[in-house]
Amino acid sequence: MPLDIRTIPCLDDNYAFLAHDPETGDTALIDAPEAEPILTMLAETGWKLTDVLVTHHHYDHVDGLAGILAQHPARVIGAEADAHRLPELDVQVTEGDKVTVGSETGVVIDVSGHTIGHIAFHFPGSKAIFTADSLMALGCGRVFEGTKPQMHDSLQKLATLPGDTVVYSGHEYTASNGKFALTIDPGNPDLISRVREVTEKRASGIPTVPSLLSEELATNPFLRAHDPAVQAHLGMEGANATDVFTEIRTRKDNF
Ligand code: ZN
Ligand code: FE
Repeated sequence: MPLDIRTIPCLDDNYAFLAHDPETGDTALIDAPEAEPILTMLAETGWKLTDVLVTHHHYDHVDGLAGILAQHPARVIGAEADAHRLPELDVQVTEGDKVTVGSETGVVIDVSGHTIGHIAFHFPGSKAIFTADSLMALGCGRVFEGTKPQMHDSLQKLATLPGDTVVYSGHEYTASNGKFALTIDPGNPDLISRVREVTEKRASGIPTVPSLLSEELATNPFLRAHDPAVQAHLGMEGANATDVFTEIRTRKDNF
């Protein structure tokens, strides 16, 4: 049975997620920006926290952890590469490792770029991937520690997953990402209608996360560096996708 996944708004624009296996009752938290809203959701659902999956070391993904564990002891799983700067891990993982939440099995994907050691958790049986600050709705994380080509490689791994995979990313940045996307891919009808939808949702306070991977493939400029229309708009016809991605990410940094 697929995981039952709840989105929890935290801090100003972060999202944490609870992923619950209805068969076993096991429940994983993905990232812990702050304790209070997560504790509230655990109380509301009555779900028993068994695991915490940590995507990367930034404070807005881990600062709530101690406050949650104090009330809900759980197994903490994170990247071996980041173990020295993450809260204490019970399980250290690298790319390809399996992570179980109840009867569901996830696979760890290294998506370094935003940070070195950033990981995503893919649960194929639930058609879900938790991407935090790698692939985001209409965007991708800023490249702080890795290189832009490395971020491109990381996103390309995600681009090969089934299109009906639901992307649970870490921030509500979609409206501003959409404004930028239109400067890169202005003639894309799917992008134009998605930005309109996003604007309406945000005006009503509705989260735009999660999103469908197929939607991202059609509209997210950071997954479209190979696209002839994007390349033509940038004056980079026939350039390799890594160079085009680097140009797009550089423009976003200065947007
Ligand atoms: Zn981050
Ligand atoms: Fe973040």
